Amino acid sequence: MSNRDAIAPTPPIPPIQPNGGVVEVTKTRKPTVFTDDAGALLELPSDWSLLPPGDPALTRRVKAAGTCWSLSERRGRKVFSQGLLAPTARIERLKHELEVERANPAYQKKLDAGRERRKVEEAEYARDFADEVRAFLAFSKTFEAEGRALARRVADHATPVGSGTVARTERIPIEERAEAAVIAWLRHQTTTYDDMTIPRVQGLRREVRRMLADRSRKLLASHRVLASHPAAGCSLCTALAAPAPVLVSKKDAATAALTDLVKSRIAQRPAASPGGSSCSTPAAVGAVAMPPQAGPVTKSLGVGAPVPAPAPRGRRWTDS
Ligand SMILES: [Zn+2]
Repeated sequence: MSNRDAIAPTPPIPPIQPNGGVVEVTKTRKPTVFTDDAGALLELPSDWSLLPPGDPALTRRVKAAGTCWSLSERRGRKVFSQGLLAPTARIERLKHELEVERANPAYQKKLDAGRERRKVEEAEYARDFADEVRAFLAFSKTFEAEGRALARRVADHATPVGSGTVARTERIPIEERAEAAVIAWLRHQTTTYDDMTIPRVQGLRREVRRMLADRSRKLLASHRVLASHPAAGCSLCTALAAPAPVLVSKKDAATAALTDLVKSRIAQRPAASPGGSSCSTPAAVGAVAMPPQAGPVTKSLGVGAPVPAPAPRGRRWTDS
């Protein structure tokens, strides 16, 4: 400890990689010294400077033109880009070239064409996604119109670029994306999820979501049969009949029962399980099972049982 502090770090500074490429670096206490991924110290050449983030086209060109260092900063689990370290002359030259290009009307035209192309691609994706949603729904003839309406609502909500929803992720195939988007839409639109106060207990939110997903799957199944049902008694048909997303009323019996169910589930959990390890006793697992739709809900509010949010808030669309 004291030994380490006593010895000033004086490792040799390796030369800059001569063959181009981007070296990931982070700051050290010395403004002209950086460390690479392997922990090696790199001295900033005197004729280099920092190109701050903010102009992706310029950054791309400076990177492509030769060796440079990509500077990032880690805060917690997240990594933030701080810009690019590269020869000042190169940065200035490319900046000037880009300015000349951007002043040219042809550049604007190219930009517009690119935007137009992306718009067309987006519209295509939204259509494909809606088709995929309809395939997953597989509603019966009786609920054909509802199936179409639901697919459109889900696609409209989930496909815009930057929506941050599951529809935008490419990590899972489109069929799975469609299913996940439907379940998320139903959670927000046909359950009281957004008004639930879910304490920060490990795994609890996931459990609630799984419970709601089960319910949503049952709701979907009731639209795959030919037998019709009155819209008033169905949270999905009700949601679809509204012109815009509606706030689920907490007074609605079917959804209020869910809030109670979550409350009772929370109450049944072991009082304190910071390790999050002892929550799956057979009794607890049994309690996750869906209650009868309108039946009485066990209210076993224990010590510290949370209460649902006092007032409805606006829709939250941040998660998917
Ligand atoms: Zn229905």
